[in-house]
Amino acid sequence: MKNRKIVILGTGGTIAGTASGVGDNLGYTAAQLGIEQLVDALPRQGNAPFALVSEQVAQVDSKDMDFSVWGQLAARVAHWLGQPDVQGIVITHGTDTLEETAWFLQVLLNPEKPVVLTCAMRPATALVPDGPQNMVDAVAVASHVGARGVTVVCAGVIHCAEDVQKVHTYRLDAFSSGDAGPLGYVEEGRLRMLRNWPFSGEQAARGPVNTVKLADAAAWSRVEIVMNHAGSGASVVEALVADGVNGLVVAGTGNGTLHHALEKALLEAQAKGVRVVRSTRCLNGRVLPRAGDLLPDSQGLSPVKARVSLLLSLMG
Ligand code: ASP
Repeated sequence: MKNRKIVILGTGGTIAGTASGVGDNLGYTAAQLGIEQLVDALPRQGNAPFALVSEQVAQVDSKDMDFSVWGQLAARVAHWLGQPDVQGIVITHGTDTLEETAWFLQVLLNPEKPVVLTCAMRPATALVPDGPQNMVDAVAVASHVGARGVTVVCAGVIHCAEDVQKVHTYRLDAFSSGDAGPLGYVEEGRLRMLRNWPFSGEQAARGPVNTVKLADAAAWSRVEIVMNHAGSGASVVEALVADGVNGLVVAGTGNGTLHHALEKALLEAQAKGVRVVRSTRCLNGRVLPRAGDLLPDSQGLSPVKARVSLLLSLMG
């Protein structure tokens, strides 16, 4: 046990952000402090069972997340997961696209070990920053024997990658698992689990993932999200198809319903070979399929996660 490691990968975000004054929770710049600085600031117990190893994979505001960072991150996570002395991985990340990265890693790697994404809603320079406690909680989850799969830890709550969504612009407890509810809670370093850890076992059967293709941002397919709303029409879809889009996720209204003009354009796109997936713009619930549906539903995934799944499916 003694020589086992928890690897902490830094990607930027508000958790690494700085402002000019302690009272400023908004006018800060994300992704300024290195992961070593964040890890060095954590309280350490002399008898901690795991050594903390840190590595800077990227330094971005996660609103700017892109395929190249995803490719690098996937490669580093896959590398560390393959090391027998690594118990688990923590990833510091901005809150804005955290749920997309979490789902990307879950679908791609389906890890047997814990991969825990964490974040902050306040910069590191805030009067009361939330990042250090979130990191301590994330390390507790990654250290937990039996923990597995990709999870998100924020404000003492453990979320499953499949369910988690950012639902608040400002509150420290900015994430929700919606109808599914959280996986559990971290309370003073202890875990109180409500649900089972996510991991299907498929990955073990599939063997290690080749992340080489993902490292080439130009090799990624193009999948865009369009939304149904009052006055929706065909023009956005027609423009995207003309521009060579490979896949479209539509955030439908209610149970995935679509304005007739938008639906017609999507069916035409599908007939031309564009992969179309129908999701919902509703925060809770899922698109329930009906007999005779012409556009496949997103299997309960939100529009942004349906896009991630479609991207990975198109890339084989
Ligand atoms: N824009 C920031 C980011 O996503 C917000 C945050 O981390 O809370 O990197």
